[in-house]
Amino acid sequence: MTQASDVIVVGGGPVGLACARDLADSGRKVLVLERGTPTGEGWRAAAGMLAAQASTGGEDPLFELGIASRERYAELAPALKEATGVDIGFWQEGIARLAADEADAGELRSSVAWQRQQGHLCDWFDASEVRARWPWVGSGPGALWAPRDAGLDPVALVDALTRDALRLGATIVQDTVTGISRVGNRVTGARGREHYHGGEVVIAAGAWSRLLSGVPRPISVEPIRGQMAALRWPEGIPPAIVLGRDSYVCARGAEAVVGSTMEHAGFQPVVTDAAPAEIFTRVSALCPVLARGEVLRTWAGLRPVTPDGLPIIGREPRLAGLWYATGHGRNGVLLAAVTGVLLSRLLAGENEIGDLSPLRPERFWEWG
Ligand SMILES: Cc1cc2nc3c(=O)[nH]c(=O)nc-3n(C[C@H](O)[C@H](O)[C@H](O)COP(=O)(O)OP(=O)(O)OC[C@H]3O[C@@H](n4cnc5c(N)ncnc54)[C@H](O)[C@@H]3O)c2cc1C
Repeated sequence: MTQASDVIVVGGGPVGLACARDLADSGRKVLVLERGTPTGEGWRAAAGMLAAQASTGGEDPLFELGIASRERYAELAPALKEATGVDIGFWQEGIARLAADEADAGELRSSVAWQRQQGHLCDWFDASEVRARWPWVGSGPGALWAPRDAGLDPVALVDALTRDALRLGATIVQDTVTGISRVGNRVTGARGREHYHGGEVVIAAGAWSRLLSGVPRPISVEPIRGQMAALRWPEGIPPAIVLGRDSYVCARGAEAVVGSTMEHAGFQPVVTDAAPAEIFTRVSALCPVLARGEVLRTWAGLRPVTPDGLPIIGREPRLAGLWYATGHGRNGVLLAAVTGVLLSRLLAGENEIGDLSPLRPERFWEWG
């Protein structure tokens, strides 16, 4: 039987592990329960873009959190390398969001202006500047340029966080959690092959979070499938990340990771017959230089998506000791680092951590 823990984290993806690492670092006895069998986890499929500025802008509640998380990775990457020997491939050389047409360009220009007013580095490049910088992209009216946006390797990130959480004293057990246990209004642990006792439980099971029993309200997280492909990155072109309106290209080593789709297909992380050709067509328009490349691999994964596109982070008001860190949708790799920081501060009882009300767990099913 496993000894009682201070905190049980359900799910060992980037979000759960970032929480586990930071909680262990704050002196808690942490147990991570991770299913451990590849079944379309978001992190195995993700491109690993940290597009805090290139893919949001305007009054998005995630804008500042995304930037804080991206900058947290700038500190975490060398710290994880030193502590675990694992290089998470953090690369901070900017992301370009190419405008598809004049209407798209108008919106992106507004985003550039707004971001600059908030004190962030962001530029608009017109068509000739885009050509000069990235002669290999398709023609268009211009691009938003976010020079501090970044990328990393999500599989290496999970490896490094796992090792560092263990180094800091966390325990990781391979098991599939079926539900949360409680006595009265207090959490007592989590159920899998056995009952794991814990004073607090953090639900971080990605797209599968809503399948857990024993929670006091439905968890509004649905799986949204994303299909991806890897192409060879052409020799002689420096690594880059470019986004279009409906596709992206993310250079990683000798490959270009390209995507993606957004599909309601239940818990079926499979590659369909049609998707790779569709992705290839869109990506060839975005970066014609890739149209000549061969498809090296295809894969699919499930994003954990909420109705309003914002994650669910915080305390369950109806059950003492239950916490949520789920529903990170399209940006869970980006937001994992800041989620770990937030969760460990919330569990420590800190109140002065900004306005998290847009993320509050009870917002979809308001009772109690
Ligand atoms: C195609 C694609 C591309 C993406 N690209 C990006 C990107 O470029 N940048 C970005 O920021 N985000 C990206 N995302 C989104 C990102 O992958 C997710 O938001 C992120 O992985 C969510 O992290 P998570 O830890 O909450 O969930 P996951 O990564 O899905 O991890 C959940 C973990 O919980 C475990 N688990 C589930 N149920 C149980 C259970 N009952 N018991 C025990 N363990 C359980 C799973 O095995 C898994 O390891 C992409 C996603 C997809 C699908």
